[in-house]
Amino acid sequence: MQNRAEAHINLQAISRNVERLKKTAGTDLLAVVKADAYGHGLLEVSKTALLAGADWLGVALLEEAITLRKAGITAPILAWLVPPGSDFQLALTHSIDIAISSIEAFEQISKLNGKARVHIEVDTGMTRGGFLDEWQEFLRSDFSTVEVVGFFSHFARADEPKEKQNRDQVTRFNAMLLELEAVGVRPPVKHLSNSAATLADHASALSMVRTGIAMYGLTPDTRMGSSDSFGLVPAMTLRAKLHLVKNVPAGSPVGYGATEVTTRDTRLGVVAMGYADGIPRIARNAGVVFDGVRAPIIGRVSMDQFVVDLGPESSAQSGDWVTVFGVDGYTADDWALASQSVNYEIVTRIGPRVPRIYDHG
Ligand SMILES: *Cc1c(COP(=O)(O)O)cnc(C)c1O
Repeated sequence: MQNRAEAHINLQAISRNVERLKKTAGTDLLAVVKADAYGHGLLEVSKTALLAGADWLGVALLEEAITLRKAGITAPILAWLVPPGSDFQLALTHSIDIAISSIEAFEQISKLNGKARVHIEVDTGMTRGGFLDEWQEFLRSDFSTVEVVGFFSHFARADEPKEKQNRDQVTRFNAMLLELEAVGVRPPVKHLSNSAATLADHASALSMVRTGIAMYGLTPDTRMGSSDSFGLVPAMTLRAKLHLVKNVPAGSPVGYGATEVTTRDTRLGVVAMGYADGIPRIARNAGVVFDGVRAPIIGRVSMDQFVVDLGPESSAQSGDWVTVFGVDGYTADDWALASQSVNYEIVTRIGPRVPRIYDHG
């Protein structure tokens, strides 16, 4: 079978990025590999990150952590989206660290056969995960039933380093940590920073940083700087086939709803990817690159395909490959801007119909 689209993953770029981030942080590094490693492939990325010096792996779901263990990965793994009612015994069996955000989950974990490894998550101002209203009551728990490995929280606005909310979150973090220590619990691993904080707020690195997007070579926010400015190399290059190339006259309405009409006689390419593969349907002013030349999207993105304007002089032929995004031409940031989104969403939404091809560099 022939591929019509491929996501090429440059594992050497991931290694370089991990090394750079570890150096920047000067602490332990947890490589965030949730959501199939932001669409880059859970196992390949995890192995690469660990070889490059990552100390921990972090995932959202218990299932993701189990997949890593079943693949033989022995590094410490933290899963932080494990609600009450989950199979905590399975986590304990596989030596997976679990984030605790509620008394209900803590009580279930406390009843296990054996001491589970937990990280206490506190809500320092993002108002999402972590203890908030139950905190004082939680402090009266019997902590001898578990092994408290970590204490952590998550920044809401680390990509806007000047925002006061960041400093408020640090203050709250320190206050809650003191309260925990006052009841005799001293978690050895303290962590707060995501990629943006790792790059912009050295003081918050504590004993470990949790880096996701930057490890994949993408900037946490283009307002902070480009990938390049941080010395990061984007790891994913998305390529697709032109399943058809044809010449059309000026005045041709293109695609569903005829939202665009050709303004000149031109050569159009039909790219063999669509919104079912994660190409945003609302994308405007992004496109592909053929032979170094940009070909913008024309008309609406369909489920399995979209049309680009190659220009009247293009030598592209049916069956040629184009680059949708990568290091050259359009970037994941360009696609994000074109679809009112962020690079995180662009890479994580690339669907399972697109095979990942690993370049070991
Ligand atoms: C996703 C996530 C991260 C990584 O964030 P990046 O911005 O990709 O570095 C870190 N910590 C938690 C709790 C997360 O959910």
